[in-house]
Amino acid sequence: MSAFKLGLNFALELDKNDALAPYRNQFHIPKNNNGTPLIYMTGNSLGLQPKTTQAYINQELQDWATLGVEGHFEAKNPWLPYHEFLTNSMANIVGAKPIEVVVMNTLTTNLHLMMVSFYKPTKKRYKILIESDAFPSDKYAVESQLRHHGFNHKDGLVLWKPRQNEELLRYEDLEAILNQQGDEIALIMIGGVNYYTGQYFDLKRITKLGHKHGCKVGFDCAHGAGNVALNLHDSNADFAVWCTYKYLNAGPGSLAGCFVHERHAYNTNLNRFTGWWSHNKQTRFTMRDEFNQLPGAEGWQLSNPPILSMAAIKASLDMFQNVGFDKLLEKSKKLTAYFEFLLKNLGEDVIRIITPENPNERGCQLSIQVKNADKTLHKKLTKAGVISDWREPDVIRCAPVPLYNSFQDVYKLVEKLKAILS
Ligand SMILES: *Cc1c(COP(=O)(O)O)cnc(C)c1O
Repeated sequence: MSAFKLGLNFALELDKNDALAPYRNQFHIPKNNNGTPLIYMTGNSLGLQPKTTQAYINQELQDWATLGVEGHFEAKNPWLPYHEFLTNSMANIVGAKPIEVVVMNTLTTNLHLMMVSFYKPTKKRYKILIESDAFPSDKYAVESQLRHHGFNHKDGLVLWKPRQNEELLRYEDLEAILNQQGDEIALIMIGGVNYYTGQYFDLKRITKLGHKHGCKVGFDCAHGAGNVALNLHDSNADFAVWCTYKYLNAGPGSLAGCFVHERHAYNTNLNRFTGWWSHNKQTRFTMRDEFNQLPGAEGWQLSNPPILSMAAIKASLDMFQNVGFDKLLEKSKKLTAYFEFLLKNLGEDVIRIITPENPNERGCQLSIQVKNADKTLHKKLTKAGVISDWREPDVIRCAPVPLYNSFQDVYKLVEKLKAILS
């Protein structure tokens, strides 16, 4: 950390020595009315568009125009197995085996499908544990599952809370909850990287703890996929879900990812919702067969997927593959550490970073609490050309993304913040 220096020249030097810097030019960077690029810090909300995306989508539009239904087999990238073109690179990004990963549906849909299989409440063991500051969609989803099974969602929901005057969650507290009521908890469902604080949880540790108490364990990795090394297979989690429109740059509302651990790949006894796309590929189109489960995560698919959206995912994943995820993480750590260094220089009496200091307990996002701030601060930042995210009551979330944010972006952001605060 002390390796960093203040001043614009140092930011420029960091950019000059950054092997990934050329990738910025492979993205469309939003601009203000004068044509100046905005400082885009919300890749954790909607990732930017790779310039290649359009060509990938056009390819499918063209094959549809010229081939019609034959495109399922004859398209340059045949539509029938199209999702398989995404599997290896997606598995690589989330640290899973190909059989454990599929791209399908949207995130909250996948979460429900996973709970159909992995939330099997009994009279005694029926509760669901989530983090108290879970993303609202996750909270609504698990509450509705409780009600669906005839339980009261207030009584059935167990919250892992931060201590008073703290924001981050402590594992001792999770352990205490499990020691107390672990035998009543059917499912632990945690956001792998908390959207608000940016705390990256130890998935393996949580899974081990949960399994010890007989709970199933799943993670929502919307803020983790493409941002941190999730190592889902090694985490031993039962399932995970994530979207592709945040750090994976696949476009608004694009399809989501789903992970089911290998140990469940051939288990046909798991309850699940099915459709023709969960059926054996060899006999899928004979249309008359008895249902025959596809093994692995693919066996949770329902429908034939939207190819145009998958084309956008392919454009993005091909770029990730090209860069190499390890290199991306290396830059990410440096970029965020530099951001942290500059913020701390503003004075810790003015600014408090609530994201963990330990680089292994966070991704690229820093959540910044500004003393006595209200939403006008966010408005001023926006006016100054910074796209960031405001969370009531006083937190600004900024995510410098290693693929397209520069060290100069981070430098300018902090300069603008400093000017507004003084
Ligand atoms: C972004 C996000 C969602 C959004 O869910 P969709 O089904 O894609 O609308 C859900 N959960 C978390 C943790 C998120 O970060």
